[in-house]
Amino acid sequence: MTYIFDFADGDMHMKDLLGGKGANLAEMTRLGLPVPPGFTITTEACRAYLKLGEIPEGLPAEIGDHLLRVEKTMGRRLGDPADPLLLSVRSGGKFSMPGMMETILDVGLNDTTVTGLATTSGDDRFAWDCYRRLISMYGTTVEAVPHDLFERALATRRQAAGVRTDPELDAADLRDLVEEYKQIFQDHTGEPFPQDPAAQLTGAVLAVFRSWNTERARVYRRAEHIPDTLGTAVTIMAMVYGNRGPRSGTGVAFTRDPTTGARGRYGDYLPNAQGEDVVSGSRDTLPLQELAHLDPPSFDQLTAAMGVLEQRYRDLCDIEFTIEEGRLWMLQTRVGKRTAAAAFTIAAQLVDEGVIDLDEALRRVDGAKLAQLMFPRFDLAGDPEPIVTGVAAAPGASCGRAVFDSRRATEAREPVILVRRETNPDDLPGMLAARGILTSRGGKTSHAAVVARGMGRTCVCGTAIEIDDELREFRAGDVVVREGDLISIDGTTGKVYLGELPVRPSPVVQYFEGELDAGSSPLVAAVHRLVSHADAVRRLGVYANADTPKDAARARRFGAAGIGLCRTEHMFLGERRELVERLILAEGEQEVQAALDALLPLQRADFTRILAAMDGLPVTIRLIDPPLHEFLPALEDLLGATTEHDRKLLAAVRRMHESNPMLGLRGVRLGLLVPGLFAMQVRAIAEAAAERVAAGGDPRPEIMVPLVGDVRELHLVRADAERVLAGVPGIPIGTMIEVPRAALTAGDIAHEAEFFSFGTNDLTQMAWGFSRDDVEGSIFPAYLRLGVIDASPFETIDRRGVGRLVSIAVEEGRQARPDLRIGVCGEHGGDPDSVRFFHEAGLDYVSCSPFRVPVARLEAGRAAL
Ligand code: ADP
Ligand code: MG
Ligand code: MG
Repeated sequence: MTYIFDFADGDMHMKDLLGGKGANLAEMTRLGLPVPPGFTITTEACRAYLKLGEIPEGLPAEIGDHLLRVEKTMGRRLGDPADPLLLSVRSGGKFSMPGMMETILDVGLNDTTVTGLATTSGDDRFAWDCYRRLISMYGTTVEAVPHDLFERALATRRQAAGVRTDPELDAADLRDLVEEYKQIFQDHTGEPFPQDPAAQLTGAVLAVFRSWNTERARVYRRAEHIPDTLGTAVTIMAMVYGNRGPRSGTGVAFTRDPTTGARGRYGDYLPNAQGEDVVSGSRDTLPLQELAHLDPPSFDQLTAAMGVLEQRYRDLCDIEFTIEEGRLWMLQTRVGKRTAAAAFTIAAQLVDEGVIDLDEALRRVDGAKLAQLMFPRFDLAGDPEPIVTGVAAAPGASCGRAVFDSRRATEAREPVILVRRETNPDDLPGMLAARGILTSRGGKTSHAAVVARGMGRTCVCGTAIEIDDELREFRAGDVVVREGDLISIDGTTGKVYLGELPVRPSPVVQYFEGELDAGSSPLVAAVHRLVSHADAVRRLGVYANADTPKDAARARRFGAAGIGLCRTEHMFLGERRELVERLILAEGEQEVQAALDALLPLQRADFTRILAAMDGLPVTIRLIDPPLHEFLPALEDLLGATTEHDRKLLAAVRRMHESNPMLGLRGVRLGLLVPGLFAMQVRAIAEAAAERVAAGGDPRPEIMVPLVGDVRELHLVRADAERVLAGVPGIPIGTMIEVPRAALTAGDIAHEAEFFSFGTNDLTQMAWGFSRDDVEGSIFPAYLRLGVIDASPFETIDRRGVGRLVSIAVEEGRQARPDLRIGVCGEHGGDPDSVRFFHEAGLDYVSCSPFRVPVARLEAGRAAL
């Protein structure tokens, strides 16, 4: 069994085995970039360890062999008291999980080797600094000593020494600190800090394996849909030292701006620092450009390496590097996370640069990102004064009530903004629950910024606010914001405002509305280009769900090729409610007919306007669907009824009460039990179409019957409708497929239907037996936690169950009627993952809300690649 690969023996394609970090370190080594020597223990070893609960056989010997190679290359040995080799032990799975798992630096230091390091480096201060870092990282990671204990000792030491930052502590301070840290370690674990470097190494490796299963790592994976079974690799490499004085340092660099996508070199640099100092946001960093002045040769070398990496990965790369006394070392690279705007802009840029083609560019964006770009922005009319401005770390415009810890954020019932000095992985649940994140420290590469960008949350960091955890408030200049106060944060400008600011449409929406042209900005141009390319390659049609002429017109502007669902029940609300009441209370044929006659002209006018807005395009009109009693007042409001009318209403409400209204008298059942109701609607449609034709229009109405479970229901409705339509040609009649029985008998139903449209909301509700209006708050959170479901089946189609019903209905429906048109009009029609499924299932179109139409167009194109 081979559990280990040397950097020289791997490459970028081996992410499954070596994790992203290990595979990319191997790739950089192959490319001849300066990478300290090292090797990677595979994810397979991790899986074996997690399964067995003990170190896999043969692994220690393999580690020994590979270590020997590193020792030879470096000319130093682990544990050599005179000139010790130090190692870093790093985690890294197939998919990047920033800051989720563990890294331990400076492994190999003990009471003796620390002196050797001091002598060979000629720098006491540096050696003791490394040692105290090792004890705290090892303690926290391997033995779960609370990080706070070390942080507090460090802060106390700074205070005693009268300095503000860690680099100002001198060798004596740090030596004392090491003693204190060792005491903390022993107090907490009952054992002294391990002095044997080999034992440190094994402890660190196993701790990295175990870190795969920490609660925060699981939470992150669930949010990002990363399987729990993959395991992490462990990379072990020689340490290089960014904390050896002012000519050393550590930093993060991006080959393009991860926020806007603009070309150039971006990043943060921190002189005289090691490892986590940059990412934790605990010290203020310099912009990367400063390095050009501080150390021009290293900056040039870094710039050249960036070019090599972009060429190799054909994408934006992010890079972690360290400079040791003027010598550059590459410690990590990966294809970088980026905001939605940057994803579109960069994909289009790379096409222009001839690096990728349009198909590849389309693969690199997705519907979820496009949806983010369509969120509204703050309306700054009236020039509101920000209370503070920080680093624009993750775009968006979010309002919410300030909360100061993760727990309150998860418990809050209203939108919240999580306010923290800096975030760490334990804040993850709170960050997920919050609309936005506001921190007082850190830059674009701080934990808060990286995680927020990944999750699509708004984030402003590095604001000069003073947070008081005790009082639960923060101060920005003279303004004090208490817990529960409303604030608005703008992640595109970094500005923070008091109160709730109004919002306006995003430029991308303005472009779809036709208010901005495609060339108005690089972002809009990129969206235009990629959505157009999706249109060119997709097979799936995209329709919209729209009930009003206004929505219909918007859907058309957004690129819908028709209306897949026009609900008629909304047309009975408002003042028209009374007319429905009249229908319900009507006694005898004549009264019923009179009530229907009163509704007819109103319906006709509704349809005429929608058909006008969608002239030349199909409009699928669904006959009335919900239980009629939804149009009556609530029982409680009628209990004291005094008038004759109200008494009648009360009796009707009682008569029509149902225990399970969603399974009751609605849809086609209503049409069959209330004679004349569907016929009135069909007549209104026919007359509206005739009116449009007379006006020179090109109306294309279609009639859709809801809730059919058996072909005989549809047969009866159809016969009645055809009687009404006698003489009016070309109005197709079809049905929703939303009762499981309809899907299972689709072959029969297709004989009476010219088209099918899957109502996946009801189909999901009835297939699972989940009451849609109740489960989202009660059952789903527990089911997600227990791993029973991976996502709400009402958001993303359940392929295995509901999807199977869809596939059966498509197959048997088409068998019975080869030219059967098939679409979907449930919420799923605008969900990126579900669109892919509908493409694969062979549907003709998806129909979704107007704002989702561009998202569905893009995803339908991606599905066709
Ligand atoms: P993460 O996955 O959380 O980014 P890393 O494994 O990248 O964790 O480690 C965090 C930081 O530790 C790196 O950015 C780097 O600065 C530092 N580090 C890791 N390995 C070494 C090394 N061999 N020499 C010096 N610093 C290192
Ligand atoms: Mg890293
Ligand atoms: Mg339905």
